Amino acid sequence: MTQLTIKGKFDKNYIESAILQVDLKGGIPKNVEQILVIDHPKFFKAIEPKVPKTARKEFEAAYQSDPTSMSLTYGTFDLIVISISLKEEQYLKTNKRAMIGLLAHELMHIRQRRKGLDRAIRADAIRAFSKFEPKLNKLKIPKKILANFYAAIGESANFTLKDIYDNFELIDNGMGEYILEDYWNLYHFGKRFEKPVFYSSKDTPYKLINHVQDAIDFELNLISAISPFVKMARAGNKKAERLVTYIAKNYEVNISEVANAYDDVIQYSIDKFKWSGSFRRKFFTMVFKRAFYLLDSLELKYEGVELKKTKPKKRKGRCVEVTRRKKS
Ligand SMILES: [Zn+2]
Repeated sequence: MTQLTIKGKFDKNYIESAILQVDLKGGIPKNVEQILVIDHPKFFKAIEPKVPKTARKEFEAAYQSDPTSMSLTYGTFDLIVISISLKEEQYLKTNKRAMIGLLAHELMHIRQRRKGLDRAIRADAIRAFSKFEPKLNKLKIPKKILANFYAAIGESANFTLKDIYDNFELIDNGMGEYILEDYWNLYHFGKRFEKPVFYSSKDTPYKLINHVQDAIDFELNLISAISPFVKMARAGNKKAERLVTYIAKNYEVNISEVANAYDDVIQYSIDKFKWSGSFRRKFFTMVFKRAFYLLDSLELKYEGVELKKTKPKKRKGRCVEVTRRKKS
């Protein structure tokens, strides 16, 4: 039986009824231990006694580094966190369809993770990158910078692909309207996804590379929302079509070069979508190739550029997953 912990100013009945509806639609996988619903990061502590001791630190760190809704897995222990602390997330307290959509989305991550999807995606990303790596020699950019750059993009593409699998299965299960309601509100209230500056002529080449990386990361994050709703729009859903247009106009606006470069990644993810390694490897290869193209077209000169160590940027989005499936 799934246990529910609620902390904050919530209407308990509202939350319980949303969870019940997800359950009735077959959305709660067996043995999901805990669902935590909170409206302030400080309430995350409330779940600690129920988390296996060895996982507590890691769960806390994963959540606090980007306090948003997520699914966390450690061994066979699963925890869903529904976090509604930001101003632009408050709609989740009153919009039940959106709440159902978010719950179903997080629970789907667990269902697919148990089928081995997270691991498969990671392995396919690594395979695709090792094949692609020799091509990087053509770029006149120091190896270390390129390694960091591609590690960040690979990580981001990993999240994107997981969300595409998740949302596509929800759409096929008839839950499309619910996730649409959630994303619709998230993007309309969303100051969370600040617009990155793609580049400036004053940038040093090193800074420029970081900006390109930020812009690609930003676009990959958007693709998690664009692909599923382009799929729904193609099936005739007008609201989905409006959301896709809204995202293009309000979010892709400062990164049009990157958005254009990645447009066929979106098309590919819809047209060729499959539960298969070759689909996933091609997806990653396309992501890497477009990044290469963007770097190559900048014609950077690296004379005397200082190598700085930068902290890897945290993805600004939903659903950071910690996966620790025990090796069997
Ligand atoms: Zn997700």
